[in-house]
Amino acid sequence: MEKSEVIQADQDYFMNVFGARFPIVVEKGEGVYLYDQQGNKYLDFTAGIAVNALGYNYPEFTEALKEQVEKLLHASNLYYFEIQAKLSKLLINNSCADKVFYGNSGAEANEGAIKLAKKYFKAKGENRYEIITTINSFHGRTLTTLAATGQNKYQKPFEPIPTGFKHVDYNNLDMIKEAITEQTAAIMVEPIQGEGGVNPATKKYLQGLREICDKEGIILIFDEIQTGIGRTGSLFAYEEYGVEPDIFTIAKALGNGVPVSAFLAKEEVASAFEPGDHGSTFGGNPLACRAAYTTLKVILEQGLLDHTKEIGEYFKQKLLELTDKYKFIKELRGMGLMLGLELDIEVKEIVMKLLRKGILVLSAGKNTLRFLPPLIISKKHVDQVIEVLDEVFATIN
Ligand SMILES: *Cc1c(COP(=O)(O)O)cnc(C)c1O
Repeated sequence: MEKSEVIQADQDYFMNVFGARFPIVVEKGEGVYLYDQQGNKYLDFTAGIAVNALGYNYPEFTEALKEQVEKLLHASNLYYFEIQAKLSKLLINNSCADKVFYGNSGAEANEGAIKLAKKYFKAKGENRYEIITTINSFHGRTLTTLAATGQNKYQKPFEPIPTGFKHVDYNNLDMIKEAITEQTAAIMVEPIQGEGGVNPATKKYLQGLREICDKEGIILIFDEIQTGIGRTGSLFAYEEYGVEPDIFTIAKALGNGVPVSAFLAKEEVASAFEPGDHGSTFGGNPLACRAAYTTLKVILEQGLLDHTKEIGEYFKQKLLELTDKYKFIKELRGMGLMLGLELDIEVKEIVMKLLRKGILVLSAGKNTLRFLPPLIISKKHVDQVIEVLDEVFATIN
């Protein structure tokens, strides 16, 4: 198909929920680059929205998946699979959790986490069902995770939406304390709000939430769908804060592009689930588990966590230099390779200009440029992005 035919077919046949997409037809990926149909090369600082941690066609990953495709894709959770057992063991050995359950998307993992929190109190005979989340959070697009998401614009078109959620300001412990009632089951937050504009929690905030939850007997849920699997330079962002959640969710980078998610919990909470309480047809199938297992193995064994810290620091330094240079840059936020640059002006045009110059970046809200490159980038890729950003910024003033 010609490029124009692809775009036309999308308009004709695909539900119009994305509006006009960026005007390239992506054909293949290699390393940290994407290529369009015409053979144009793009340095990808989006990584499929924090998904492709190992970039594209990472040799060990591709080999493992090829082998798995020939061996077994799926046979349902009616049976045991060695690769699922190996993945569970690896995740538990490298996290604060004791038990795991697999799903296929971030929203699904959050649904599971919410179900588990509610079941925990049901099992104890306590009437607690309310979940406190934060304004500007993002927890997914299913009806319940929409209700959890603290952004009214996503909820309005679908009212009435499921009840039982309260939203309070992020990084504000007083508001959490005021929102707690006898019915509060859990507090659910992203350690760094992603879609909401790359807003990191303060250490004091997450530590304070832990204290409040301990004192009140409330469950603390971290949505690590975007921050998990190495993005911050630790395997999970909670490690950066020295705060352990009771339940946490992961998805995006877990399968390096193969859809797989998980929610993990401490034994005391996890044991509330009984046979029949939860399930999934596709969740944790052999292909998904092989993808997740290989991704984790590579991240842990190839030193990608230290690399992410180091290169993230370098990138941050370079962005700060730009911040000094351009008055319209308001603030740099983030951790590891999850960085947001807030400007005084709208970023839409800037994102398009960068694309035309062969650099892919994201936005968060109207004013924030968001960088989520593959964890395997090197300094020369950062330099290239900085150079082109500088060029584009110079045309603004
Ligand atoms: C992306 C994201 C989700 C939703 O994940 P889907 O796979 O799109 O359902 C939920 N929470 C956070 C923090 C995310 O970044």
